[in-house]
Amino acid sequence: MESDGDNIWPQQRPPRGGTCILCGKPFQGWGHDANPLAHGRCCDDCNFKVIDARILALKELHARGVIG
Ligand SMILES: [Zn+2]
Repeated sequence: MESDGDNIWPQQRPPRGGTCILCGKPFQGWGHDANPLAHGRCCDDCNFKVIDARILALKELHARGVIG
């Protein structure tokens, strides 16, 4: 088995990081899915806001009788 050292786990290699789509701060690694606040990745701090928004959205769906 040959290895060129750069092609191991090509699907699972973590990215170096990115820029939070919500606050613009750089983050390490994968970050978090910013849905439903934005389409992109966000940092740890903003992930709390994203989770809040998801909970609010769920409550609204409940209130409208869409789910549950
Ligand atoms: Zn952020």
